[in-house]
Amino acid sequence: MAATAHHDLVLVGGGHSHALVLRRLSMRPVPGLRLTLISPDSLTAYSGMLPGMLAGRYQRQETHIDLSRLSRAAGARWLPQRVLDLDPTQRRVQLDNGDQVEYDTLSLDVGATPDLDSVPGARAHAVPVKPVATFEQRWRDLLADPAATRRVAVVGAGAGGTELAAALAQRLGATTRIGLISAGELLPGYPARARSLMRTRLRDAGVHIVEHAPVQRVSEGQLHYNGRSQAVDLVFWCTGTRAPAWLAASGLPCDERGFLRVDTTLTSLGSPHVHAAGDCASFPSPLPKAGVYAVRQAPVLADNLLAAARGGRKRPYRPQRRFLSLLSAGAGDAVASQAALAGAGRPLGLALEGPHRPGLHEAL
Ligand SMILES: Cc1cc2nc3c(=O)[nH]c(=O)nc-3n(C[C@H](O)[C@H](O)[C@H](O)COP(=O)(O)OP(=O)(O)OC[C@H]3O[C@@H](n4cnc5c(N)ncnc54)[C@H](O)[C@@H]3O)c2cc1C
Repeated sequence: MAATAHHDLVLVGGGHSHALVLRRLSMRPVPGLRLTLISPDSLTAYSGMLPGMLAGRYQRQETHIDLSRLSRAAGARWLPQRVLDLDPTQRRVQLDNGDQVEYDTLSLDVGATPDLDSVPGARAHAVPVKPVATFEQRWRDLLADPAATRRVAVVGAGAGGTELAAALAQRLGATTRIGLISAGELLPGYPARARSLMRTRLRDAGVHIVEHAPVQRVSEGQLHYNGRSQAVDLVFWCTGTRAPAWLAASGLPCDERGFLRVDTTLTSLGSPHVHAAGDCASFPSPLPKAGVYAVRQAPVLADNLLAAARGGRKRPYRPQRRFLSLLSAGAGDAVASQAALAGAGRPLGLALEGPHRPGLHEAL
């Protein structure tokens, strides 16, 4: 890239990967690169610390990354808007305030949201756990007046759902009946021992677990599954995720859930100028939707965005075959698993949430 020619690099979404790309560019600015971050929120949550915040072990500011500060440090302009549309032919994105932003190189890290449309009534009567900002507001309302909410159901028992149920039990267990409803078994894809350890911990904390019970419908104050209706005051929706609809509407290749198909260099299969990382990317070998991948992809994404800007060679992201999964089980306890092995206990809880936990948040 010539020093005088500007190259417009536009980052959409302030997820884990983009926070780290911004950090890298703040330390090593690139002459001629005009950087823009489009993100409706100035704070973005670090997912690994979310259960600890819900359980009351962290304050909100300890679990969030300040994107506006990071943008300033990286010399980026921050646009506090949401993208509604992407036109890869014209190389521009449409914002919710009516503005359009043109790019030379685009990167998407917009995450995913629970699928609210596959079950009738879920959109109207359930609270999705993503986006985190909306979810947190409902969480604060719940804590402000717990007496008004005696029965809470968490629908979906993957990693997020089980951690949420554990945090609810720790925070509100004395006054609130907490149900965890799962279409299949708890923690699909995890070793049987991890499932059994988490089941025991949740039951001991008073969580009522219902497995193999796909929710058929949600109505005002009622959850309908297994041919019965359960009275509830609040439903948190924590099921499998979907991509924002505008990704598939762009015409770029997407998978069956609408996530942008990328090659191993995190470049769209339909445009060399568009990149994606984290939950919104559909990698050639399917990856779990977990923050750890968004974090690990960040250095490769940063290198490849700069390669796109300078006309250099991109390098592949090689996902780790195994990683240690630590699930918060409430009250400082955790369930760990790696490959087929699993264990649990408070020392693991300390590793997960202790003051020296390495991770994105500390790095920032
Ligand atoms: C309760 C819970 C606990 C979890 N615990 C863990 C855990 O312990 N470990 C783990 O690895 N994962 C965990 N996860 C999963 C983890 O949250 C996600 O995998 C991770 O956040 C994905 O990161 P990301 O960078 O893809 O996007 P996100 O972190 O989701 O960030 C996306 C960003 O894009 C912005 N955005 C969205 N749409 C637009 C738009 N149209 N225009 C502009 N900006 C937009 C959003 O505001 C947000 O800031 C948990 C999830 C939940 C719900």
